[in-house]
Amino acid sequence: MDLFLSKKALAISPSSTLAIDAKFKSMKANGIDVVGFGAGEPDFDTPVHIKEAAIQAINEGYTKYTPASGMPQLKEAICQKFKNDNGLDYQPEQIVISNGAKHSLVNTFMAICDPGDEVIIPTPFWVSYPEMVKLADGVPVYIHTTEENDFKFTIEDLRKAITPRTRALILNSPSNPTGMVYTAEELKAIAQIAVENNIYIVSDEIYEKLIYDEITHTSIATFGNEIKELTIVINGVSKTYAMTGWRIGYTASNAKIAKVMSNLQSHATSNPNSIAQIAAIAALNGPQTDVEVMKKAFVERRNYMVERINSIEGLSCRKPQGAFYVMMNIKSTFNKEFYGKVINNSDQFAEMLLEKAKVALVPGSGFGAEGYVRWSYATSMVNIIEGLNRVEKFLKGDI
Ligand code: PMP
Ligand code: GLU
Repeated sequence: MDLFLSKKALAISPSSTLAIDAKFKSMKANGIDVVGFGAGEPDFDTPVHIKEAAIQAINEGYTKYTPASGMPQLKEAICQKFKNDNGLDYQPEQIVISNGAKHSLVNTFMAICDPGDEVIIPTPFWVSYPEMVKLADGVPVYIHTTEENDFKFTIEDLRKAITPRTRALILNSPSNPTGMVYTAEELKAIAQIAVENNIYIVSDEIYEKLIYDEITHTSIATFGNEIKELTIVINGVSKTYAMTGWRIGYTASNAKIAKVMSNLQSHATSNPNSIAQIAAIAALNGPQTDVEVMKKAFVERRNYMVERINSIEGLSCRKPQGAFYVMMNIKSTFNKEFYGKVINNSDQFAEMLLEKAKVALVPGSGFGAEGYVRWSYATSMVNIIEGLNRVEKFLKGDI
């Protein structure tokens, strides 16, 4: 039987990060000795006080629908977070709480895009952005950055990408997959262009707390009222509090945008899980010591990984400033034969590495960054050492 499927749905490709993770998990379940660096998911458990708050929520009967855009208590906690961490004043009606930041992003593009509206996405980008824009009938427009420029776009690049159809620019600082962080000065210049051209900034700040060395995070919404009105801040608890499975993300925006997103959500999913919302309150209002412990581990892992990669002949990488990913340059392996086959691109490299060395990395192609593969260092030091040993052997033809 010929099944009809919509052109829009058929045009959406699967998430390569989740696909690699699924492949890694199924290999492991089949007893294969594989090391996984696919999905970026903290290997730490959710802090105990957060889990206890959730158990208490169940016992106290927080098991019913909440308002579609989230509980007032959690909105208050989120407003307080914006005030304390970012110096931003938001009211509860400007906050929409959703099923993970992924859902917050989809709501955002649904709310701001008409068919054919262009959304500027700097490369390398997180794999889901272009597909989310397409889901909302928008058109992704790419600004290509270079490793030499720390994977950052210039103001000139941005100006050239803007057309009368430009609706928004996606900013993701610290970035998945490059770990790069835009400075306050760079953000100020971007804000000025956004205001001049009346374009939204979708500012994905989900890695704001995972930022290393002396570098600090600034939200682009802090550069005055005009840019604040045009910014939709995306954030969530998945990364900072090792809560990926709980599915709580949120937006802060102009109240009119928030209302439209809330309306959409009221039909699509209703409220995000009520128990997870209570847990998110505990995460935001409770002690932040676990975040510091995780951060310390991430710094050690990053330092080791970066040093090791740059010591292996034919490989190189930049030192990321935040998040928990490293983009490894593999261009020198192209057009060379490994184990009887020529490697021409990042998909082939990742596939052969998984097959021969049993190491799962995500190909750069999914991030709009051919010539690279992404490591996640949100995994143990033991795995990181083993993974890098295997890659070194693989390249020497020694597997
Ligand atoms: N934005 C970025 C840049 C991410 O890496 C992720 C990771 N999944 C998300 C948003 C979404 O996170 P979640 O849906 O788990 O809140
Ligand atoms: N954001 C993480 C990653 O990039 C988790 C997987 C996903 O949602 O894409 O690996």
